Amino acid sequence: MIRNEDDFIKLDITEEDIISAIEKAQAVRFIDNLRDRHPMVSMESKVRGYLGETGIIKLLTVNGLRCIQVPYDEARGNDLCDIDLAVQGSGRVMTMEIKTSLRPDRWPEFSQIIEQCDIKFIKRTDHIDLDRDVFVQIYFLPLTNENDRQTVDIAQRTGVGPTADARTIYETYGYSKFINGTFFVAWIDKQSQVGYLRRFPGRNTYHIGYRDFWKSGIKYARQPRQLALYLHGGTVADGVLKCPRCGAPMKLRTARDGRQFYGCTNFPSSGCKGSVNMETVQTPAGR
Ligand SMILES: [Zn+2]
Repeated sequence: MIRNEDDFIKLDITEEDIISAIEKAQAVRFIDNLRDRHPMVSMESKVRGYLGETGIIKLLTVNGLRCIQVPYDEARGNDLCDIDLAVQGSGRVMTMEIKTSLRPDRWPEFSQIIEQCDIKFIKRTDHIDLDRDVFVQIYFLPLTNENDRQTVDIAQRTGVGPTADARTIYETYGYSKFINGTFFVAWIDKQSQVGYLRRFPGRNTYHIGYRDFWKSGIKYARQPRQLALYLHGGTVADGVLKCPRCGAPMKLRTARDGRQFYGCTNFPSSGCKGSVNMETVQTPAGR
């Protein structure tokens, strides 16, 4: 369950990350669901996709996981399956799809996003077989419509287009907005998601634009700070997991009631209460 924005993790995105994401976006020619958009709106959307990957890779790498980026496959056309990362933990390799969204203008508060929004699961086939192990949802602070309007406005005013050099795009379009504005809000594993879909048969999809999506309420999804432990397969040596609050190593501890959790090693000295609860991490089953 996602309760409030304290459950989110702000991802570490730097100016260099953004410049590099622009360069990658410039090298991709075509993305199916962006074909009708203004070229700079489409450009920024691709940049956000790469930033989501970068932020998640950094978070997982710090937590002792090895990430392999899976390049977007233009040849797959109508994408039956979109895998962004393959992650090697202590157990088997797991595949991950990362969805990125801007804040919706009609639900701008994080509390509304938690209550009203879904992980953006594109429905690619009729049957509930999800080809990825883990789905991650990221939100960026700018508001969707307002942000797109501003982008078109800047493009018309300045004439800076998708082939301009990366730094010019960064500065002209104010991409520094992503540095403190990229949040990992929720994730869900395949088993939990399939279970969720089965509980609401017949009303487990919704439609936006020309795509269908599977329902998956963010509030029912899993907490960002649980992800690294899940990918490791449920248990790791002391010091491998880093505190989601302060970045210090975490250590397996046992509470008075016998419950086990990973706690920040800065507790009690600095009072940091960052923790990851063991009981809510089910280890992933085999395929
Ligand atoms: Zn801490």
